[in-house]
Amino acid sequence: MQFKAFEPNIEVNGQTVYAVVDGMGHFKSLGEKILLQAGIGEMKDGKYVIQMDGWYSHDKWLQAFENIAKQIGDPTLKQIGMKIPENAQFPPWVKDIDSAVKSIDIAYHMNHRKKDTVLFNPETGVMLEGIGHYGYERVEGKNLIISECKNPYPCAFDHGIITTMARKFELRATVAHDDSKPCRKNGADSCTYIITW
Ligand SMILES: [Zn+2]
Repeated sequence: MQFKAFEPNIEVNGQTVYAVVDGMGHFKSLGEKILLQAGIGEMKDGKYVIQMDGWYSHDKWLQAFENIAKQIGDPTLKQIGMKIPENAQFPPWVKDIDSAVKSIDIAYHMNHRKKDTVLFNPETGVMLEGIGHYGYERVEGKNLIISECKNPYPCAFDHGIITTMARKFELRATVAHDDSKPCRKNGADSCTYIITW
């Protein structure tokens, strides 16, 4: 289900919260207000401030994000998702559409932690569980990638993230939501996206 954490004791970093707020456009002040009410970020000299290297409750963040999403609607949620990769730095091995889509799950885990341990360690390559995944499955011999997203973020938002990552190397890539599969908007715990180019 959208916005329901899979496990307690998970935290999200300020960089991720910032990237979402930054993508809100004219909904930014609404987003900041809701985040402040949830205890995420603070006002300093009349401005909303979030610590980039700070860590915030994943649960509270998802609740606030749900309140924001209800007011802004799916098209804006998708736009925010599309902007997320703009704030990100990519490892050097991200060099084509396959590695770009694969990197989403790694970045996702690097931006969340459980009991003070970040969920992906780039030095050892070890990934810990607790927040679900952004899937990657290449269909052999075709310009086709299936991405099953089993995580608590909203459907339209993930659609946006995947679209930008796919187009990073394949400008004409399209990403379709597979309506024949379950959808988190209907209470399922995953959505499936079909990437073609
Ligand atoms: Zn969906």
